Amino acid sequence: MQGLMQHGALTVDKIIDHAAQWHGAREVVSRSVEGPIVRTTYAAIHERAKRVSNALLALGIKPGDRVGTLAWNTARHMEAWYGIMGIGAVCHTLNPRLFPEQIAWIANHAGDRVIFVDLTFMPIIAGVLQHLPSVEHVVLFTDRDHMPADFRPTGETPNFKGLLCFEDLVEQHHADCAWGGFDEGTAAGLCYTSGTTGDPKGVLYSHRSNVLHTLITLQPDVMGLSQKDVILPVVPMFHANAWGVAFSAPGTGAKMVMPGARMDGASIYELLDSEGVTFSAAVPTVWQMLLQHLKETGAKLPVLRKVVIGGAACPEHIIRAFHDDYDVEVVHAWGMTETSPVGTLSVMTDALEKLPYDQQMPYRLKQGRPPLGVELKLTDDAGRRLPHDGKSFGNLKIKGPIIAAEYFRGAGGRILDDEGFFDTGDVATIDDHGFMQITDRAKDVVKSGGEWISTIDIENIALGHPKAAMTAVIGVPHPKWDERPILLVKLKDGETATKQEFLDFLHGKIAKWWTPDDVVFVDDIPLGATGKIDKKLIRQRMKDYALPALAVAGAAEAIGDPDPEPEPPAAILAAADGAQAARIYAPEPEDPLSEPPPLAEPRVVEALAHADAEPLLESDDQEARFPLDPLETPDAAPPLGPVPEEAFHAEPVFVAEQAPLVLPADRQEDGGKARAEKAVPPKGGVASRLLDGAVLVALAPAVLVAVAALGVKLGLLPQGLGYDRMTLDWAPKAAVLGVATGVAGLFVAVFGGFARHWKKALGAVAITVVTLAAMVAANLVGGRAPPVHDVATDWTTPLTLSDAGLAARGAGAPPIEADPSLPIGSLSFAGRRVADVNAETCPAARPLVLARQPADAYDAAKAAVQAAGLSIVTDDPADGRLEATGRTFWFGLKDDLIVRVRPDAAGARVDLRSVGRKAGGDLGRNCRRVGDLLAAVKG
Ligand code: AMP
Repeated sequence: MQGLMQHGALTVDKIIDHAAQWHGAREVVSRSVEGPIVRTTYAAIHERAKRVSNALLALGIKPGDRVGTLAWNTARHMEAWYGIMGIGAVCHTLNPRLFPEQIAWIANHAGDRVIFVDLTFMPIIAGVLQHLPSVEHVVLFTDRDHMPADFRPTGETPNFKGLLCFEDLVEQHHADCAWGGFDEGTAAGLCYTSGTTGDPKGVLYSHRSNVLHTLITLQPDVMGLSQKDVILPVVPMFHANAWGVAFSAPGTGAKMVMPGARMDGASIYELLDSEGVTFSAAVPTVWQMLLQHLKETGAKLPVLRKVVIGGAACPEHIIRAFHDDYDVEVVHAWGMTETSPVGTLSVMTDALEKLPYDQQMPYRLKQGRPPLGVELKLTDDAGRRLPHDGKSFGNLKIKGPIIAAEYFRGAGGRILDDEGFFDTGDVATIDDHGFMQITDRAKDVVKSGGEWISTIDIENIALGHPKAAMTAVIGVPHPKWDERPILLVKLKDGETATKQEFLDFLHGKIAKWWTPDDVVFVDDIPLGATGKIDKKLIRQRMKDYALPALAVAGAAEAIGDPDPEPEPPAAILAAADGAQAARIYAPEPEDPLSEPPPLAEPRVVEALAHADAEPLLESDDQEARFPLDPLETPDAAPPLGPVPEEAFHAEPVFVAEQAPLVLPADRQEDGGKARAEKAVPPKGGVASRLLDGAVLVALAPAVLVAVAALGVKLGLLPQGLGYDRMTLDWAPKAAVLGVATGVAGLFVAVFGGFARHWKKALGAVAITVVTLAAMVAANLVGGRAPPVHDVATDWTTPLTLSDAGLAARGAGAPPIEADPSLPIGSLSFAGRRVADVNAETCPAARPLVLARQPADAYDAAKAAVQAAGLSIVTDDPADGRLEATGRTFWFGLKDDLIVRVRPDAAGARVDLRSVGRKAGGDLGRNCRRVGDLLAAVKG
């Protein structure tokens, strides 16, 4: 029996309708990107959002279209947000803290048609627009006076129709627009996870999930908001919808204060104070900056009553400072983009609240309990539930109508377990009060001797050390225990410390076997785009690090110590101080017995210090995918030093002592005659030798490729070395170096006497010109060729490999996906569907319809495959399935071919898919194969 209640679709337009109608005069105050504080109301936001909707409709935006925003928290951003969602389009918040390359990938993957942008982010958009073929308009969140005089995107932007002014659009369109009227399951918002593992993944919120999340967050034991509140969401709208505050604040009618681009302690304090803020939400680092500011200025927070802190574990000193010094309640919360984001909150239960504050602290430090609407479970790796005893570590899984069921465009495949729970990737405990505590990210937890060590716990405790500014713990390989933790510490400005100080500080606060095996002092600890410690980057930077105990054992082995048993870490560490800690990151001393000189800047410190300059998502083959610019010398190439002064003098300057490789006279069969001969200075002097070098360097790329190709062909080199490294990586770099050397050689010849050196000089220049031409040709061919290794004639019913085909392909090859997209690093194609890229770049890849019986068509296809020299793996005429493997002549690169023959009204339809076993571009090989085979079948 059905209930007899009204059914109103839960759509977010009703939130702003409610705010405008019942709290219309309530203020929304923004620190505008242009500078001044700007005041508006919910009624005005509602009206202007409707105008935005009409503007979008006029630009051709339809329900389901993605509209991006690249903006700070301001009222204008809210207007765009509700204007987009109200008409059933999808508001895609882009995170400007990502690298431009990632932003481009994400905007392409989302297929954004319009992007609203703050003035601050114009340079980002101008730089990436050429790589965003789906973007037709960019709307600048500003007025006419602040529009740039001339906006010139870098590169070609064929589909881009123009830059628009937000205030002009609002002014030009009327406010009469019908919102809603669609199903509550309709997509409302899209937000990509930061992608610390693999490509970013899109979380597609529905209207229903957003409305339910709003109702959940309003519960008193969640955010407990009221229309009397003045709310400052510091957490950006591009980070999981500002934790829902951009919905919940208008939902209650609370006044909103938007911080715009300024989130430093002084700016946040100014807003808290001048606007009378009662509630705020931000990640710990923001609060850290505010508390620092309050300490320096002696300012107080008389009005602020509650702050929600989440996104990363909240350290105890922040909770204490708010409570003890400013009488502000801290609610520690946990959540993720996939959970809308509120998952749990550390709000004291009635029983715990009665305890003295100090005894509540362990619970306040935990991430807390789930609200109504969220289910949690802890499981072991086999999926078995673990007890809520506060000790058992397990995988944290979550379920509910505000939790993602799958990622946008199916990325990552199935993400729910058999009971419908989403695996958060966090490792946690749950205690008997129901308080969940994150102990780690599953990929960060240190697995030592089969037991798990929480890196977050150690980090938090170490952060309590008065000299520590930031701390991070990672696991490093250990032969006996699999992994052991090491602690990285960034000291506060002007502080110095020893390892032992930190180990003593940890002593008694953590289990003995959790004690880090080393403490490393670093200049910086890199943060990712959402403000969290980027452990992936740290691990990458530390890949050459060896534990001190192991380094000692290694040295002992090297000098023949019969008992290289590592010293117990504690003994080593007791002896170590900060300078010694740094030493282990220094390049290996040549003599293991000699004491290496102390290094001022240890290698790892340098690496971490430069972390910010590196892209967040790095892949090994990234460089291979980006053709090197022939005009730029890559970082890896040693810079060419200045040509020595002597080179410009005609006289030879070599002296006998400098001639290398001379055998002692008594070991020379000719009694020293050769010595005299070899000691004769080479003809032509420095200039001549430099030119010899230039010729050799200029030849290097060709030699590299030739040796690689031959080596792989003859089975002397593995493909990974011959193809991936020597050909795709080293040869282009050598070519750049060769060009530079050739040009330098020309200078040498000109200044060193052209008449004498002209032959070599011309040789070097000729080789350089050939190398340059080869590079340009490679870029042209590569530029014209489809940038994919996967070409198919049908993406509606994708062609897949049978089990036999999959077995032949092997587990190491990239998977055959139903709707793949191109990875980060594919320039203007990054994030776009392979199907669309095929359609654009491989016109030959179209289904072939033949006026023949399917069996005949199958035979013709098989004959074509055999004639092309492919080896057949599956031959199943009854199913119309033929599978084969092709191999290139030189490097033996393999591709898998799938042929599908089906009956068609006209006779038979033949579809092909040819997929390389290496991801990335294939210089058009698979496209050509598909085209050639189709032509052959057609006859
Ligand atoms: P994001 O999707 O970028 O918001 O990241 C979500 C992840 O942040 C979670 O899976 C946790 O690993 C981490 N996280 C969020 N809140 C907390 C918290 N209060 N304590 C520890 N980790 C947290």
